[in-house]
Amino acid sequence: MNILVINCGSSSLKYQLIDSESEKVLAKGLVERIGIDGSELTHTPAGKDKVEIKTDIPDHSVAVKMVIEALTDPVHGVIKSLSEIGAVGHRVVHGGEKFNKAVIIDESVIKDIEELSSLAPLHNPANLTGIHACEKNMPGVPQVAVFDTAFHQTMPRKAYMYGLPYEYYEKYKIRRYGFHGTSHDYVSKRAAEILGKDRKDLKIIVCHLGNGASISAVKNGECIDTSMGLTPLEGLFMGTRSGDMDPAIFDFICEKEGLTPAEMNTILNKKSGVLGLSNGLSSDFRDLCDAADNGNDIAAMTLDAYSYRVAKYIGSYAMAMQGVDIIAFTAGIGENSYGVKTRVCKYLGYLGAIIDDEKLKVRGEELIVTEPGSKVTVMVVPTNEELAIARQTLALL
Ligand code: AMP
Repeated sequence: MNILVINCGSSSLKYQLIDSESEKVLAKGLVERIGIDGSELTHTPAGKDKVEIKTDIPDHSVAVKMVIEALTDPVHGVIKSLSEIGAVGHRVVHGGEKFNKAVIIDESVIKDIEELSSLAPLHNPANLTGIHACEKNMPGVPQVAVFDTAFHQTMPRKAYMYGLPYEYYEKYKIRRYGFHGTSHDYVSKRAAEILGKDRKDLKIIVCHLGNGASISAVKNGECIDTSMGLTPLEGLFMGTRSGDMDPAIFDFICEKEGLTPAEMNTILNKKSGVLGLSNGLSSDFRDLCDAADNGNDIAAMTLDAYSYRVAKYIGSYAMAMQGVDIIAFTAGIGENSYGVKTRVCKYLGYLGAIIDDEKLKVRGEELIVTEPGSKVTVMVVPTNEELAIARQTLALL
């Protein structure tokens, strides 16, 4: 069966058509600037040239219609008709406490996702727009919601409660949820497979280091802690997000700079992290590593601070699980950045890791980077959230 995987943002829509038997990507693409001037669809069929269609794309329903047309086009299409799409798997960001696994979408699921929008006002409404657009253009095709938060729902209360008045949890469900769950689930499973072991017998720390970044502790197959919280702002430094900080800083800067809470929120989400700390140099780790290699002190400090925080989380999760068998790096930085991995790995000797530094230079490949005899296995496992969504969609049908 072919499964269409959709990841819908407020003005964008990413898609992949995956053959669930061979697990091959038949085509993938991106619709950008939906409802904005300059909208375009980029469609990449496997083994054929990329096609770019620049036209007015006023809403997500038109975007989905164009995706179907591209997939069924006689020249650059990969299927003959819509009937060859067996199901749609949607990435949905927030499933709150309601969803601890993927579900087939019906009216009541849509209502729940709508209600959860207060916890993810930027994401859940956009995800719903994609669901409605598919319902309209592909009537009768089963649709599945795969939640970013679901894998973390096994966290115990001691890990997800904040030290805040309990009434806020009761009234507004303020607690830690965690994100990137589909990736943490996929990578921890794959890491165990690579060692030929059952995930249920292992203690695994997954470092998902991309533009957004989070770490999770997966003990005996279940997530017991993760670094993101109520929102994706908590935890590590990220490309542009601050991660953990003293909450008093919020008011302090608002007062000194005369900022509104909304403006401050934008600073913490869009202008902080490594972009902010490097004094605006870049949010891209390729630039930061190049600058540091060329003697730029602030770039080196930013990479040191970033890596130190990653190492601190690894240390705390080793303590939380009372041990660690595997540490897996994934996502853009985790898969590719020698500058970050080598800095983080310098701290891992304490856990008994014996690192082959040359192997850290390899990019984007599944690879064990520790030497035989290492107490903990450190590895790189490229994530594949789309495949994980397709697998979960298939499993539900
Ligand atoms: P993601 O959000 O997973 O796509 O990751 C994006 C991040 O990965 C960006 O900060 C990039 O700088 C980083 N990245 C991608 N490729 C490389 C590379 N070859 N070396 C260092 N960082 C990379």
